[in-house]
Amino acid sequence: MSAAPTTDVAVVGGGLIGLSIALAVARGGQRVTVFEGEGVGRHASSASAGGVRSLNRHPAEIALVRAALPLWAGLAQDLGQGVGFFASGQLRVAEDDAALAALEKRAALTRDLGFTHEVMLDRAALFAREPGVARHCLGALLVADDGFADPLATLRAYRAAAQRAGVTICQNRPVRGLARDGGGITVQTDTGGVRANAVVNAAGAWGGQIAAQLGEPVPVEPRGLQMSVTAPLPSFVNGVIGSEGRKLSLKQMANGTVVIGGAYQGNVDASARMARPLQRRVAANLATAAHLFPALAPARIIRSWAGIEGWSQDALPVIGPSKTMPGVIHAFGFSGHGFALVPLIGPLVAQMLMGKNPTVSLTQFDISRFSNREEDVNYA
Ligand SMILES: Cc1cc2nc3c(=O)[nH]c(=O)nc-3n(C[C@H](O)[C@H](O)[C@H](O)COP(=O)(O)OP(=O)(O)OC[C@H]3O[C@@H](n4cnc5c(N)ncnc54)[C@H](O)[C@@H]3O)c2cc1C
Repeated sequence: MSAAPTTDVAVVGGGLIGLSIALAVARGGQRVTVFEGEGVGRHASSASAGGVRSLNRHPAEIALVRAALPLWAGLAQDLGQGVGFFASGQLRVAEDDAALAALEKRAALTRDLGFTHEVMLDRAALFAREPGVARHCLGALLVADDGFADPLATLRAYRAAAQRAGVTICQNRPVRGLARDGGGITVQTDTGGVRANAVVNAAGAWGGQIAAQLGEPVPVEPRGLQMSVTAPLPSFVNGVIGSEGRKLSLKQMANGTVVIGGAYQGNVDASARMARPLQRRVAANLATAAHLFPALAPARIIRSWAGIEGWSQDALPVIGPSKTMPGVIHAFGFSGHGFALVPLIGPLVAQMLMGKNPTVSLTQFDISRFSNREEDVNYA
């Protein structure tokens, strides 16, 4: 009988998080195999809006995303090909006094935490920066060095860089289970087992299932986030725009098309691994966008899509070692805002795998925060 094939590190999931981790680990000199159940980037990573946003992040994530931003600026050079990153700035607009007060409160909170990146704009400063914004708007919260990147270009760049670094990528190879095997772990697939010294669970919306198999269930809800894009319009907006109190994210691309989203949910069938946009929500999303930017009144939606994203109960990712199977590290459940973190998560998880303390603390993302909440796991 021939021995099972081996690898140093197995990564379950070939989305951007898995690829970023695979690349960083391979650059550290380890043999890495990525097991992707379908195609690379098939789910959240290819559907993403590509927003690189530190604006209005959960306090637990601010240090992480601020550390990721400079990596975005140098990412094309690091990966050897473009990722379409543009530091356009991101703004969260206030349309009434209550929204303005909420933004001022938020700015104060961020300042109290020791950060200076979120800046209030009054009405005049908002109109100077975004002349196309509707006249009823009262101000905005701005992060000037936030921006966006092209998710598909980012996927292509990570995949190529990982392969150049020696990563083996196995597509259409779902992982069915993980089993302790002496000092290592056997990754079970339909075509046999592969022995690894360490395994990373980067299975996105399905990461909670893997954790459950290991006896440490985590509530992760698969959400089908939807996006739309319009036919090209004359230039009318400079930054990525959100709204305090409404679901909205919009940005205009160099070709004039406008990408509109903001956490509207489509239909999701997690077992069939399919998500579809709902037309009435496409219309609602466009109406909100046109309310903020009158130039969108004649806009025509030419494409809508949805992707499955794993949403944890506290909308924060799970990053850190398994408590039940030594050698497994979790990195899943990025809850709608993992794209911005991609260049940082790879190096941080690689540091953990080498037994080092990550250079940015990940303790707030540890899986143990769910250990007393088993009764909450119910997404029927
Ligand atoms: C519509 C939409 C818009 C978004 N916009 C933004 C944004 O503007 N800014 C932002 O920061 N974030 C955004 N996000 C979130 C961001 O895209 C995700 O957080 C990020 O892409 C997650 O990457 P991932 O690799 O963890 O997940 P995924 O890309 O979903 O990858 C997980 C992979 O694991 C594979 N897999 C699952 N189970 C198994 C198994 N058992 N064996 C093998 N493979 C398996 C899946 O097939 C999948 O390819 C958006 C998400 C969506 C859906």
